[in-house]
Amino acid sequence: MEYSFRAHRIAGGIGADDRFWESLEEGVFRLPRCAGCDRWMWPAHFRCGGCGSWEQRWEPVEPVGSVYSWTRSWYVFDRTAERAEDVPYVVVVAEIPAAGGARVVGVLDGPDEGVRVGAPLRGRIDAPSAKSKGYAAVRWSLAGE
Ligand SMILES: [Zn+2]
Repeated sequence: MEYSFRAHRIAGGIGADDRFWESLEEGVFRLPRCAGCDRWMWPAHFRCGGCGSWEQRWEPVEPVGSVYSWTRSWYVFDRTAERAEDVPYVVVVAEIPAAGGARVVGVLDGPDEGVRVGAPLRGRIDAPSAKSKGYAAVRWSLAGE
């Protein structure tokens, strides 16, 4: 089975974030930035809301940030049935200062004791797998303080 987001694309996307998924498959965490005014453009979209430019650069960013928000899933939802063995698990919204405060969602790996808003996080990239529906994914871990 080939694991790439293009082979397993989830219906409904408009493709503005394709480069994000391609970059993760390459092992690089990149986020889009407007080529006209340098504004970070995440979630990805095609046109800058600040200056109107259609041009953007995808810049490598160190996946380091802090917990903006988090939740613990106690239920096996139909669309995440691949994660049944992981329940309960924590999903975080990581805020990344190096990318203008962009917020990137991902599963929290490792112990979740001490998870709280503001806790420091470090991300790593997991290769595409059946569990991630064929997408490479950012996994966050509590980084300690
Ligand atoms: Zn702009």
